[in-house]
Parts: sequence; C-alpha cells; structure tokens
Amino acid sequence: MIDVKLRSVSKRFSRGGDAAAVDDVSLTIAAGEFFTLLGPSGCGKTTTLRMVAGFAFPTAGQIHFGDQDVTRLAPNKRDAGMVFQNYALFPHMTVAQNVAYGLKVRKIGRAASAERIEQALAQVHLAGYGTRRIDQLSGGQQQRVALARALVIRPRILLLDEPLSNLDAKLREETRSEIRRIQREAGTTALYVTHDQAEAMAMSDRIAVMYGGKVQQVGTPHEVYHRPANAFVARFIGRSNVLELPVAEASADGLELRLPSGARIGIGAPEGHGLKSGDTALVSARPEQVRLAGPTADGALPGKVTGIEFTGMATNLTVDVAGDELMVSVVDAPDGIKIDDQVGLLLAPHRLWVVKP
Ligand code: ATP
Repeated sequence: MIDVKLRSVSKRFSRGGDAAAVDDVSLTIAAGEFFTLLGPSGCGKTTTLRMVAGFAFPTAGQIHFGDQDVTRLAPNKRDAGMVFQNYALFPHMTVAQNVAYGLKVRKIGRAASAERIEQALAQVHLAGYGTRRIDQLSGGQQQRVALARALVIRPRILLLDEPLSNLDAKLREETRSEIRRIQREAGTTALYVTHDQAEAMAMSDRIAVMYGGKVQQVGTPHEVYHRPANAFVARFIGRSNVLELPVAEASADGLELRLPSGARIGIGAPEGHGLKSGDTALVSARPEQVRLAGPTADGALPGKVTGIEFTGMATNLTVDVAGDELMVSVVDAPDGIKIDDQVGLLLAPHRLWVVKP
C-alpha cells in the first residue's frame, strides 16, 4: 500500500489567458484510503485523475506515489489500475482475454497469468466466467470485468472514473458497496471520480469537493456534510438553505444574528471568521435541521407553504419566509398540510453552520 501526493498541481490546456482546468491542487491520499474527487461537470476532476494515471502531464506541480516522483512517468510504468466510465473492454474477446491484457503488456508467464486471472475474477465474484464473451454479459458484469482487469496487475493505486454511470439506479446502489468491498479486500489505495454526491458520501473515506479547478474542501463525508467550508459545498453536498443574516454582535468564536422576525440567535462560529457587527453572515441550515411549528410559536419564523413533496421517508416542504424560499424536510408532517398553509420555522442554533461566501 502506498500514499499518493499531489503538490500544487495545475493543468492549463492552452498557453493563452484561459483559466486553468486544474488550479494549484494539493492532496494527500493515504495508503489504503478510498478517496473521491467530487464536483459538477467541468470542475477538473477527470483531468486530475488523468494526471495521476499519466494520461496527461501537469503544467506545474508534482505527483508522488509513495517516495517516487511519477509526475512525468508513462502510464504503463506507474502500476495504476484504471477503470473507465465506458469500461473500455474488447467486446469480441473473452472475459479472461480482457483481464489478461495488463499481464501480457507486463510479460507475465502463462501459468502465473492463469492463476492471477482466476484470482481477480474470484475477487469480483465472477469465478467461472473466464470463457464468456464480453458481449454476452450484462452491464453490471462488464463493470466487474473492468475492475478485475484493473486489479489483476496488483496496482499500487486503483483509479476509477465514474464507473457506475452506465448502470441503472438500483444496480448503481448495489455496486457501490460491492466496489468498496473489493477495494477493501484488495487493500489498494483508491482514487474515485464522480459528480454524484450521494455516491461519494456512501463510498468514500474522504472527499475532495472541486469547483472551478480548485479544491473547495477535503474531509470525511460527515465533515463536508455537517461542516461545509463555503456556500458552494453547502449547496452541492445534499440540499442546504444558505441564509443571509445580519450580524448584531460578534466575538472570536460566536455570533449574535438577527432573524427576519427581529429575534436574535447566538451561534458558534469558526475561528478566524472575520465577521463584525453590521456584516452579513452566510449560515447553512440543512432542511432536516429546520423544525416545523405553528405560525405563532415562540421564536419561529412565520412563513407560507409553497411546495410539498412526499418521498416516503420524509416530506419535503418549501416555505416562503419574507420572500426567501426555505427547504424543510420533516419525517412526521402534520396530516392534511397543504399549499398556502401558514407555518412557523424553528432554527436550532447548534445546528447552524457559518460558511464562507
Ligand atoms: P466531466 O464530469 O464533465 O468530465 P470534469 O469535472 O471531469 O467534468 P474535466 O474533464 O477535468 O472536468 O475538465 C475541466 C476543464 O478542462 C473543462 O473546462 C474542460 O473543457 C477542459 N478540458 C478538459 N480536457 C481538455 C482538453 N483535452 N483540451 C482542452 N480543454 C480540456
């Protein structure tokens, strides 16, 4: 097992004034860790993965696998196993021939190869499928062959580029825990790319949230969800209300904020928040952390229901509070609640989190 380090890695595709596709990214992926690059289309996550794989070279910065500088090393010299979005399998060849590909390139002998292919197929629960043709397999099985082909070379790092995007919703959910099991059993460091925040949350030890070529935050799923670094992360991970509230009083580790109702709430704020009395604070409140109350309840923000969506697990409401639409998610919505009902919303101060713009 090795760790992987990116030090101030940037990639520009043209010499002109274009913004960098990847802009000064520094990350350390711990040995054996399942690490995800998450962000919307165009944020630079695939370009970052391709630089770790060696398919693209950085215009600045270095990449290390353990102690080895691999910044300008050819892909086949890195011992990285890659799983592509479209699997990139040879459709007319058998499963075993596909899995054998990386071993052939590495000139591993016939007997040793056969043993390693069997082992890799067993790892992905496809023992006995070696003689099947790729075009006789389901999408989910093809996905496993692609994984076996990446694992058979005993990679120092497993690189996965949106490997679930061609599967239907149900299979996608099953496959995410399957990939995690395989990675854990193989004991390989993994770098995973996705734009799907639910997938990233469910699978990862840690996540780097990217936007505009830059890393916005690195943290465990719990950290990026409950303590988002800025408004972008708060809105991109799950759903979040980002409220603009005037600061009535500020101290080093806390703020008194004025609610639209005129009431004040005191909340904790991260060190170095830099806010002072009269400023506007951005505060993230998850929909499930806003409580529903009667319209005249003490300290509640009065509002009007403008949307109701029943998901089975919860009821998602949108509530207009003085012209702002707030999202509220409640497990036990009152019977008969309907559009235009007057309600009150309670914000629990210990659930609120100050974010940077
Ligand atoms: P997606 O999920 O859509 O693949 P992404 O987050 O992976 O998006 P990248 O594919 O890394 O983003 O692209 C980042 C930026 O770099 C984009 O603006 C893209 O247009 C640009 N880009 C990527 N590859 C090239 C290339 N070969 N030549 C020029 N520009 C490129």
